[in-house]
Amino acid sequence: MMTRGGWLRLGWALVSAALLQGCANTTQSGAIGLQRSQLLLISSEVVNNQAAIGFQQLTSDARAQKQLNTDQALTQRVRRIGQDLIAHVAVFRPDAQAWAWEINVFDSDEINAFCAPGGKIGVYTGIVRKLQLSDDELAAVMGHEIAHALREHSREKLSQQALSNVLTATVSAAAGIDSSLLDAGSNLLVHLPNSRAMELESDVMGLELMARAGYNPAQASLIWKKMQQLSKGKQGAGFLSTHPANDDRIATLEAYVPTVLPLYEEALAAKAAAPHSANKAAARTSTPVRKR
Ligand SMILES: [Zn+2]
Repeated sequence: MMTRGGWLRLGWALVSAALLQGCANTTQSGAIGLQRSQLLLISSEVVNNQAAIGFQQLTSDARAQKQLNTDQALTQRVRRIGQDLIAHVAVFRPDAQAWAWEINVFDSDEINAFCAPGGKIGVYTGIVRKLQLSDDELAAVMGHEIAHALREHSREKLSQQALSNVLTATVSAAAGIDSSLLDAGSNLLVHLPNSRAMELESDVMGLELMARAGYNPAQASLIWKKMQQLSKGKQGAGFLSTHPANDDRIATLEAYVPTVLPLYEEALAAKAAAPHSANKAAARTSTPVRKR
């Protein structure tokens, strides 16, 4: 039987191994200067395969219920904006350009949008209609969601969960106490601060993506102001429950606008110079990674 000291040594060995091998960065820093190393213990392949299966299921269920891409004009608009943004993902990670991206619009009153790991994008009609999103605002929402996928936040959260499970089991075995007591504590320590960091970095990465794609980054904070109005006095559901529209978030977005504004102006100039090959021009401006 392992002694208490033995359990603690095992726990520390596991944590050290995790920190040594698992800390990496899924993306390059871009013009916004993104810096945060991530705990990545689970492979992208496992996470992306699961996400692809889930997306296929959601898509086929929606198709069966005649709730998939029913509004042609909206579907085209969402796909055009999505493709404009995807044309610039190489700034953060060159491999993402070759992902099997898919973009679908789901008929639902829910205010929601997502980009599942590996580039499976879903936009709900509810978010576009209830917030009356302009193209710039839609680009901000989709850019934010694409950033979650580029940074592999789901994989990071699963890795944190795995490490937290190991820690909980190890510490409770060492101390001889009920592990459910430790769950609450380790959740607080491991999850909350990071998920806030994930939200903020997705906001600013999304801001850079939209600017490079020729969408006005100064408009991004408007969606959060609209959401604040919408959720006034009541508990938000869907997107609102996972994306608190607070003043911090709006202030951070607005603070980064001057950094990405030159990229937006470049994209506009490129479009004006070659209006019929806007996509080619956009692809050209995306290649070099700008340093501050
Ligand atoms: Zn988010």
